[in-house]
Amino acid sequence: MNRIVIVGAGQAAGWAVHTLRGQGFDGEIHVISNEEQVFYERPPLSKQVLSQEAEVESLNLFSHEQVNDFSVTWHKPDHAVKLDKADKTVHLESGKVLPYDKLLIATGSRARIPVSAWSSMQNVYTMRDIQDCQKLTEKFKSAEHIAVIGGGWIGLEIAATARKQGKQVEIFEYGSRLCARSVSPEVSDFLKHLHESNGTAIHLNATKLHLIETADHHVDVFDADIKLKQFDCVVVGAGAEIAKELAALAELDVKDGIVVNEYGQTSDVDIYAAGDVAIHPSLGYCIQSWANAQNQAISAAKSMLGEMTAYQDIPWLWSDQYQCNIQILGTYQPEKTHQVVIRKTTETQISFFYLDANQRLLNMIAVNDSKLIKLAKRWMASQRELDPAELQDPDFNLMKLK
Ligand SMILES: Cc1cc2nc3c(=O)[nH]c(=O)nc-3n(C[C@H](O)[C@H](O)[C@H](O)COP(=O)(O)OP(=O)(O)OC[C@H]3O[C@@H](n4cnc5c(N)ncnc54)[C@H](O)[C@@H]3O)c2cc1C
Repeated sequence: MNRIVIVGAGQAAGWAVHTLRGQGFDGEIHVISNEEQVFYERPPLSKQVLSQEAEVESLNLFSHEQVNDFSVTWHKPDHAVKLDKADKTVHLESGKVLPYDKLLIATGSRARIPVSAWSSMQNVYTMRDIQDCQKLTEKFKSAEHIAVIGGGWIGLEIAATARKQGKQVEIFEYGSRLCARSVSPEVSDFLKHLHESNGTAIHLNATKLHLIETADHHVDVFDADIKLKQFDCVVVGAGAEIAKELAALAELDVKDGIVVNEYGQTSDVDIYAAGDVAIHPSLGYCIQSWANAQNQAISAAKSMLGEMTAYQDIPWLWSDQYQCNIQILGTYQPEKTHQVVIRKTTETQISFFYLDANQRLLNMIAVNDSKLIKLAKRWMASQRELDPAELQDPDFNLMKLK
């Protein structure tokens, strides 16, 4: 095999290249990126970079020397527009046609804007890449009243960052609770309390939102026909759209994302996918997390080289909001959850455990307790039976259950 082509240059692509070279692959690696900035991580965009506590350079996954040593042939900014499975080629917007021996699709996802007219409004923002973050950072220098549409992780982080800068913030969430797709009602209540106690107004069931940009570039937010308020800007954090169109056009097996096996292989043996765009092989849906993008890409890259490496990680992600580091292990599965146990060690350290009928951990959310998450990873991997009374008791040392 001589040439590997990778579409996208985000978290998954970066770790794929690092792994390919680390495993001794000395053929050509071509990377197509529609962003000028490549191999960077996105989590700090809505946190430390937006709050100007960190520089954009700190996002780089690798040093400049490392990236040079990867000897990548770059195609950027350029856009892959078509795959030809029969010819084993990728067609780029610039007109280039790149042949491949193996291909990795690592196209991630995009910010979803629920109403297309909002995309053309000057003071409606999204947060997906460095440019989005730079535009919003600039706006935050003058904006005082900020509406956040969407009470998911990114919306909540942006709201917290804005509040910490003294802005007036209101969150409008379509559903009846915050982060409803990924956490239980108990955690949604915790998040609501966290934001309200920090001075943010939260409007749930905001199903009929309507925006009008005024002549002086403020944004009026309406609920149906009733004007609620005028804001200096609106940030839309209404979920992600999976960038699966290349695979769909090429008639690979595609559902909500690209279907892959545990090695990251799609329905075409020479085409792999990893990161936000790929469906998690055992869960059956896309996981949008930093760790998933990195680790699924590492296993796909090894498998591309013939060292078949199954990806079986338990999903894990984190979010930082105000004084809380919130970590989520496993996935929320209400149909399998038999018991919810809440452990409150201090006012700012609280954990939520979701146990199945055999008292095994299905899912856990820990606020300000990284050590406990590390331990819980072991419990989940070994399918350990847990005693709810011990989990709940703040005086019981859970580290005894190593
Ligand atoms: C603001 C923000 C905060 C986040 N915070 C957290 C967090 O706290 N914790 C956590 O676990 N996760 C977090 N995430 C999620 C995490 O960053 C993503 O899951 C991760 O970036 C996915 O990596 P990826 O490589 O699959 O996709 P991406 O990083 O999105 O990279 C895909 C790249 O491919 C490019 N591309 C797409 N289509 C084409 C094409 N046809 N041709 C060329 N290029 C193309 C895209 O423009 C993009 O540059 C956050 C995400 C965002 C946006």
